[in-house]
Amino acid sequence: MNRCLYCNQENIHGSSLFSYLFNHDIICDSCRSLFRIKRNVFMLNGLKIEGIYVYDDNFKNLLLQYKEANDEALAPIFLSELRKDFLIRYRNYQIVLAPSSKNKENIRGFNHLKLMFDSYGIDTLDLFEKMNNVNQKDLVFDDRKKILDNIKLKKENKLKKVLVVDDVVTSGYTMLAISKLLAEKCDEIKYFTLAYNKKYEKNNSSISLDLIMKIKEKSKNYCKMLKL
Ligand SMILES: [Zn+2]
Repeated sequence: MNRCLYCNQENIHGSSLFSYLFNHDIICDSCRSLFRIKRNVFMLNGLKIEGIYVYDDNFKNLLLQYKEANDEALAPIFLSELRKDFLIRYRNYQIVLAPSSKNKENIRGFNHLKLMFDSYGIDTLDLFEKMNNVNQKDLVFDDRKKILDNIKLKKENKLKKVLVVDDVVTSGYTMLAISKLLAEKCDEIKYFTLAYNKKYEKNNSSISLDLIMKIKEKSKNYCKMLKL
């Protein structure tokens, strides 16, 4: 019997909505139901950003367990069954990782975003480095602008269609800095975050069950076609 990757209980899926939608899920129904999937496209600092989870305490704990407790096994939880839909929508895009602090990466022993995408066999580009370890939470508004000066592009390659991915968007300053650095080097840039701050949540943007089922059905057909 498979065990849930998050709570380590026997991974028995019941007859809930989540088990139906995530019937090959690697975490159990009760763990999955802790997290709010709410696909949302919002504007921040002039950028259009897509997010899929609401960044609430449960998601925060999951991310902390993964990143700060070095629980690498959790890497595939985040996109899970949404992976196929992601691959279809962004199949012509090069995935570019938002920069993470090298110090933390060294302590952790892995790049948390890279490992997530590696676990689905999705190639990523690590183009940026953070110069100093600036914790955004500790910065005031003006200081946050310094993030723009704190991120450097490692490679100068010309890119076509790029999807910038991050784990959480709160202020949006990191995405903004990236957009400025990539603007001249890419034909098209899109922005994607796993989770977004509740303040960007729109009440009418919740993805309906009908729509999920349509996407799921469409995904199946596309996946067959693409042999994913
Ligand atoms: Zn569980």
